[in-house]
Amino acid sequence: MFQDEVRRAAEILRSATRVVAFTGAGVSAESGIATFRGAGGLWEGQRIEEVASPHAFAADPVHVWRFYDQRRTNVAKVRPNPAHEVLAAWQERFPNYTLVTQNVDGLHQGAGSRRVVELHGSLWRVRCTGCGREREDRTAPLPALPPRCAECGAFERPGVVWFGEALPAEAFLGAESAAEACEVLVVVGTSAVVYPAAGLVAVAAAVGAKVIEVNPEASALAHLADVTLRGPAGAMLPQVDAMLAGG
Ligand code: NAD
Ligand code: ZN
Repeated sequence: MFQDEVRRAAEILRSATRVVAFTGAGVSAESGIATFRGAGGLWEGQRIEEVASPHAFAADPVHVWRFYDQRRTNVAKVRPNPAHEVLAAWQERFPNYTLVTQNVDGLHQGAGSRRVVELHGSLWRVRCTGCGREREDRTAPLPALPPRCAECGAFERPGVVWFGEALPAEAFLGAESAAEACEVLVVVGTSAVVYPAAGLVAVAAAVGAKVIEVNPEASALAHLADVTLRGPAGAMLPQVDAMLAGG
């Protein structure tokens, strides 16, 4: 049964040049990183609003930083999985390929993806709350919490998008224009309930792109999918890729 769906996905992709892959937390699940909604609204045992909002950071920056420092330390220990690897290899296969992610874990880059549109920022960037300076920091755990800006001495914050904050404009516009122009959108491991990111699927469907969904469960956008691969991304994407490579 799902062999037919794998074949249909490969057929759609075989003739495509403009392809967008759009990923959520599920693509990293097989690397050992918990998804958010999968855990009943808890993220590593925390109510997400208590750690992922400007309000929470203003109230208790050390608490918020402990959470992110732990996340960084956990992610530093895990490896990209075959789904990340296939999505990286596709930058060579498709002439016009855009990888858009809601994830903040950096595992796409870890698998070799050179250009990743990060809609929700990255655990590996920190930003000064005083002067706005942004920098990459791979140290995990950090030696002191909260880290302080070397320029102005103010607290730095995680370079991720929190509840109530706007998406980075350049990333969102880049993702939107890629979705408007694509022939195929491959949606992997997102529950697609977080807007405006989830609206990308509707944008692609509205311009007539084929939508391929990879998710072991039916998501909020299942009705928009032309092909549905109901299984874990780390198993399904390599099968699609093997069939593509097989010609
Ligand atoms: P989500 O947690 O809301 O949904 C995850 C989806 O992945 C679910 O639909 C689930 O059925 C699916 N899934 C689970 N295992 C899978 C697998 N092996 N293969 C394919 N799909 C699988 O995630 P979301 O839609 O990305 O939204 C949550 C938000 O929380 C995101 O915006 C993200 O920024 C953040 N988040 C990020 C990470 C990360 O960076 N790894 C982890 C948790 C949450
Ligand atoms: Zn500063």
